[in-house]
Amino acid sequence: MLTKRSVVITSSAALTAVMHAASPERPNIVYVFPDQMRNHAMEFWNDEDFSRHVKFKADPVYTPTLNRFAREAVVLTSAHSSCPLSSPHRGMMLTGMYPDGSGVPLNCNATRPISNLRQDAITISDVLSQQGYDCAYIGKLHVDYPTKNNPQKPGHYVSDRTPEWDAYTPKERRHGFNFWYSYGTFDVHKEPHYWDTDGNRHDIREWSPKHEADVAIDYLKNKRDASKPFFMVVSMNPPHSPYYSLDDVEEQDFNLYKDKALSELLIRPNVKASLAKKQKSAPYYFASVTGVDREFGRILNALKELGLDENTIVVFTSDHGETMGSHLEDPKNSPYTESFNVPFMIRYPSKLTPHVNPVLLGTPDIMPTLLSIAGLKHSIPAAVQGTDIAPWITNGKIDKNAPTGVLYIRNVDGQKDKEGRVTSYFAVARGIKTDRYTLAITIGRDHLVKEILMFDDKNDPYQLTNLSDKKVINSLVKQMKPLLQKANDPWIREGIYDKVVKQLVKK
Ligand code: CA
Repeated sequence: MLTKRSVVITSSAALTAVMHAASPERPNIVYVFPDQMRNHAMEFWNDEDFSRHVKFKADPVYTPTLNRFAREAVVLTSAHSSCPLSSPHRGMMLTGMYPDGSGVPLNCNATRPISNLRQDAITISDVLSQQGYDCAYIGKLHVDYPTKNNPQKPGHYVSDRTPEWDAYTPKERRHGFNFWYSYGTFDVHKEPHYWDTDGNRHDIREWSPKHEADVAIDYLKNKRDASKPFFMVVSMNPPHSPYYSLDDVEEQDFNLYKDKALSELLIRPNVKASLAKKQKSAPYYFASVTGVDREFGRILNALKELGLDENTIVVFTSDHGETMGSHLEDPKNSPYTESFNVPFMIRYPSKLTPHVNPVLLGTPDIMPTLLSIAGLKHSIPAAVQGTDIAPWITNGKIDKNAPTGVLYIRNVDGQKDKEGRVTSYFAVARGIKTDRYTLAITIGRDHLVKEILMFDDKNDPYQLTNLSDKKVINSLVKQMKPLLQKANDPWIREGIYDKVVKQLVKK
């Protein structure tokens, strides 16, 4: 009798195990991305376990949360924002398509109807929602063309700025996100505002990352549908500018940097004397980073407290970097490493072994890779142009099949209509980042090559010397072609690539 009974129990346990294997519990996904955060602005890069994997020094910044998180995550050294600018990055991240395919080739504002997230595109949130996820978006969105759809003042923009940059995203444009607490773009860090799921506006009087972490924690604890896995995006605006005074940062964070000389904060050999004015923002920029680090830590603590950390994929990244006193006044939208390279760390305790990983990741790769790591490879939409790099993130071995380059994209306004609205975009620069080099070619409206930038990042990580080695340039241009084809880029469609190649041969 006893024996028989124990057999029954064993069978039942075995059956349960089989059922689990057939339909594993889906992991939750938390995606935190502050805006304009340099990959260099993470303290742990100076720790020996990390420093031996990179050629640069970490900024003198305090990031205790990220230091701990890095030891629990796969840390990419070579993640790049394929178009290092707010809206195009966000469009690519959401759709897995390059800016032409996502519908967002330029930064979104009311002069640019050409730049507006395609409503018919299938985003990562559309996929996860269809797969039974509860989906939340908290913070800056910046992929919508602002229209006069102010829910508080019908027939008007959400503010009176000219041109209008901020936007309200109505339900039909939320792509599967059922919990909403977001805005388009707005840069007063201590007076942020948000529209919630029902279109109510909330005007807040505290530092936006702190408030967004509070909303995220409340979502985790009280607001989500606990019967479903969840996908939560937290899109913080700092360390984006403004970073000029205590109106922009928390005083406790500023106090860590206020007594330091700029020469102690800006330690890179490429810091330019001509950018002295910009450099004064360094203590505020680093204070913003430290504040973001703390708020990210609060979200991680909530996951732990709820017992969710083992089965939750957590990503920490940014939409582009910040040159902070080197190369150009413009912090972003350039091929320099400090603009183009971004933090990218992914933690998934039950599936990913923590390590530092040199795989090349471009923004359109994020969506297919995340879906694949979550066990949803079969749900990657056919229209996705990015590559699923999960195999190399999982095993850490960069073999011959791994990506060999990330496309660099810079667009500017093209034609305008009578009202001054931008109706097309111009693909002014294209380039490639490989494991060794950065190349970027800028053209004029006549398609004549205006500038070539090429750096040997291995031997010149601060990009002090623009090289003119024809052999290397031609080889990189060749490597760029399949990436442009994959992106269905105007440089291929409009024959620009061939014209550029002809000019390079003559040079
Ligand atoms: Ca941005």
